[in-house]
Amino acid sequence: MTSLYQHGTLAMLMGKQLQGTITAAELLKHGDTGMGTLTGLNGEVIILEGQVYQAQSDGRVNHITDLDTLLPFASIHFYKPTQTLPFDQVDFETLSDKLKSAQLQNIFSSIKFHADFSRMHIRIAPQQVPPFPSLLEVATNQPEFEVADISGTLMGYYAPEIFNGPTAAGWHLHFLSDDKSFSGHVLDFSAINVTGTLQVFDEFVQHFPIENAGFRGMSLDLDGLHAGIEASEGGKK
Ligand SMILES: [Zn+2]
Repeated sequence: MTSLYQHGTLAMLMGKQLQGTITAAELLKHGDTGMGTLTGLNGEVIILEGQVYQAQSDGRVNHITDLDTLLPFASIHFYKPTQTLPFDQVDFETLSDKLKSAQLQNIFSSIKFHADFSRMHIRIAPQQVPPFPSLLEVATNQPEFEVADISGTLMGYYAPEIFNGPTAAGWHLHFLSDDKSFSGHVLDFSAINVTGTLQVFDEFVQHFPIENAGFRGMSLDLDGLHAGIEASEGGKK
């Protein structure tokens, strides 16, 4: 059995619940590879080999060593690949096609690969302060960065359509360059010399911050939720 652990939901971020509700230390008990964001939607987090990195919206990348740092939303798993990736060149448009034989459409899965990227286009959510806006409002103003010819590691999750709400359906990818100076939420990419793996999960663990009064009292905006996911996460199917 291989399990994907998620703390918080995208529905909570849409409901303006951007306060951190799990520590990095607690999160790391559930895996060594993953992604998320910090309190106030402060940047894009990528977790590789148990190390936590945060891209902040001015483009800087921080290695998070204070494990009391809080996250409102994160997904994590123990890296235990199912197979190697069956391609050595890929871009965002062709990713699903190239993995068609793996039949991922109805299950949660993760990819992680190292490559030389001729193009890497990312965005980084800017930090919000209370009273928090919804993820949809933040989505309209997010710094984007694009570089050519950069080597690094891309990791991401695929979520089935029916889980659009708890998380973003389709692919959700984060990137960290080899020199750890460039990182963020991937909007587009083109890669060669791909070496990496696919991991499929037979269990999805959804953890909720039940001690958090804001979460317990929030009202769910289901109409805004799907528009917000489209605008902010925009997972490619
Ligand atoms: Zn992201």
